[in-house]
Amino acid sequence: MSFGAVARPWMTDELQMVRDTARRFFETECVPNQKKWQEQGHVDRAIWRRAGELGLLCAGVPEEYGGGGGSFLHEAVVCEEQMRALVNSFSINVHSGIVAHYLLSYGTEEQKKRWIPGIARGETVAAVAMTEPGAGTDLQRITTSAVKDGSDYVINGAKTFITNGLLADIIVVACKTDPTAKAKGVSLVVIETKDLKGFRRGRLLEKIGQQGQDTVELFFDDMRVPQANLLGGEEGKGFVHLMQQLPRERLLLAIGNAAIMQRAVDDTLAYTRDRKIFGDTLLHLQNTRFKLAECQTKAAFARSFVDDCVARLARNELDVPTAAMAKWWISQATCEVVDECLQLHGGYGYMQEFPIARMYTDVRVARIYGGANEVMKEIIARAMENG
Ligand SMILES: Cc1cc2nc3c(=O)[nH]c(=O)nc-3n(C[C@H](O)[C@H](O)[C@H](O)COP(=O)(O)OP(=O)(O)OC[C@H]3O[C@@H](n4cnc5c(N)ncnc54)[C@H](O)[C@@H]3O)c2cc1C
Repeated sequence: MSFGAVARPWMTDELQMVRDTARRFFETECVPNQKKWQEQGHVDRAIWRRAGELGLLCAGVPEEYGGGGGSFLHEAVVCEEQMRALVNSFSINVHSGIVAHYLLSYGTEEQKKRWIPGIARGETVAAVAMTEPGAGTDLQRITTSAVKDGSDYVINGAKTFITNGLLADIIVVACKTDPTAKAKGVSLVVIETKDLKGFRRGRLLEKIGQQGQDTVELFFDDMRVPQANLLGGEEGKGFVHLMQQLPRERLLLAIGNAAIMQRAVDDTLAYTRDRKIFGDTLLHLQNTRFKLAECQTKAAFARSFVDDCVARLARNELDVPTAAMAKWWISQATCEVVDECLQLHGGYGYMQEFPIARMYTDVRVARIYGGANEVMKEIIARAMENG
């Protein structure tokens, strides 16, 4: 057992069973396919259905909507295992952690019953489309418009960097229903992509990491969507809905990154223990020992803070600045730890076949998406300023 494999304060026997199922699934059914998925730029649909069969999708969604009937902890355990196995070719966080929870929290009863069960079974792949070529961080500037016409909305615009976008059957799209208003003009409209006229997927975007993840551009040209697909049935609520879900989404990112950080340390400990140098092991050199001690300390701090945030979330007390702290600090620390660990692998750390090399390119984006780290610091500073 590695030093990092410590007991968690919130762990139960039932969660351990979820963890075991998730670990087996990611290690035996996903890791062997990672190379193929990276080469083709996306996973095969079957893996979504398999994850659904095993109860790994929507684990925190009530059973009446087809979910596992668990809590945030169930989703946290799945997320940790997926990231520990370095399986980042399909985003369960976006699918279950974000989209299912938008529908659950803000959808009408009819919308929840219509869409969530398919997402939980993995038959419907879900994505969320907020970012546009001209508006990422500053979401109030989005220009994708949804204009009422008869019983439909006519949607025009473009989105970019959309995770799960190539396979997505359901996409929550942030649109302007009132172009004269800023935040209050934003609404979330759910689009069902099958045979949808005016809907077009762009190219698979070529990223420096996470190559198996299908990240695409989307285009909407006079795309007609029934007004019944407006999330929650009330216009102008989109921005508030997005903001309310942020602490939970950012905590999931922090949980995943903390797991990657520990994986980097564990791999490097094993590598330096085996690698012979100057008549002894690489682990025997004082620099290696000090670097690994520093990295393990960061990983332990990250895990403790994650556990504290998880407890706060369970009490409904995880506020936006605290989630921002977890998001920025853990993503930054993960990049630093992975960089140090790659250094200790020498030239092998630069080779794609070594997991540490993939971690290096895969984690970089964690400081950008989910809210850029600069924005996280601004949120924290504003909360400090306002007491
Ligand atoms: C791999 C990947 C997957 C993604 N998946 C999705 C998805 O599924 N759905 C979706 O909608 N979007 C997705 N995104 C988009 C992501 O959320 C945006 O890239 C992010 O919000 C930043 O927006 P931007 O790229 O337009 O950068 P900008 O908004 O142009 O920001 C550029 C830089 O400016 C700095 N900055 C920004 N604001 C501030 C500030 N207030 N103070 C100081 N500095 C600041 C930061 O350094 C930031 O990185 C994804 C992106 C990537 C790369």
